[in-house]
Amino acid sequence: MYHIHIMTLFPDVVGDMLCESILGRAQERGFIRIDCHQIRDYTLNKQKQVDNYPYGGGRGAVMQADPLYQCWKHICDEEGERVHTIYMSPCGKTFCQDDARRLKAEYDKLILVCGHYEGIDQRFIDECVDEEISIGDFVLTGGELPAMTIADAVCRMVPGVLPDPECFEEESHWNGLLEYPQYSRPAVWHEREVPEILRSGDHEKVRRWRRKQSIIRTLLRRPDIFREDDFKGSKQDRKLLAEALAEFEALRKEKES
Ligand code: SAH
Repeated sequence: MYHIHIMTLFPDVVGDMLCESILGRAQERGFIRIDCHQIRDYTLNKQKQVDNYPYGGGRGAVMQADPLYQCWKHICDEEGERVHTIYMSPCGKTFCQDDARRLKAEYDKLILVCGHYEGIDQRFIDECVDEEISIGDFVLTGGELPAMTIADAVCRMVPGVLPDPECFEEESHWNGLLEYPQYSRPAVWHEREVPEILRSGDHEKVRRWRRKQSIIRTLLRRPDIFREDDFKGSKQDRKLLAEALAEFEALRKEKES
């Protein structure tokens, strides 16, 4: 079982969201467990205040180190170990699929810390945090959406959560490619037809068509992640790459004219 602890000022919102659908069912079946902890419950003052003015002046409030520490310590004491701890932060490393894979492979427990207001006291980070992760170059009001993002991306790779590893191994960013276009019923909708090959029943043709579409789409949209060397292995792949490159060139010329 993969166990994620989320430290937040809004445990109900986060908990409700992660109890729905695929992750909800995975929790009921015991493949994963997500516990949300109210940081406010670990304050030692009557007002349950968790934030204060920043030293040095400036606007806003900073979350104080001690409530965060007490909450973190409670979780680690209950787990009987120092759990790998991640602070959600726009100053962190930008999250990607490889990080999700790494977190899933290297740990079976995580603590995700959600900041709020202007952020959190640096001393808590220095003492308790193992890594800082950002979900992109923008700033949100709190770490809740980032924590839910990480929890979701990691949990869907835990065995049993999705029906088959193929569900994520075929997807965008798994093998450095974006996913091919997907279609469902009906075959014609608003005069738009599903590509013939997908209805042919020829699995090998479908597989090749999808892989080619993946290559073309990645070249068009994300040339920065495309690795041509991945297709140098087999003769079949080299042929597919050549076909995809030709189609990509044609599309590019069409766009230019
Ligand atoms: N003053 C901080 C931003 C604080 S935003 C700065 O300039 O860096 C408040 C909280 O939202 C942060 O403590 C963090 O937990 C979360 N947060 C905001 N944007 C984020 C992002 N892109 N990735 C991860 N967490 C983010």
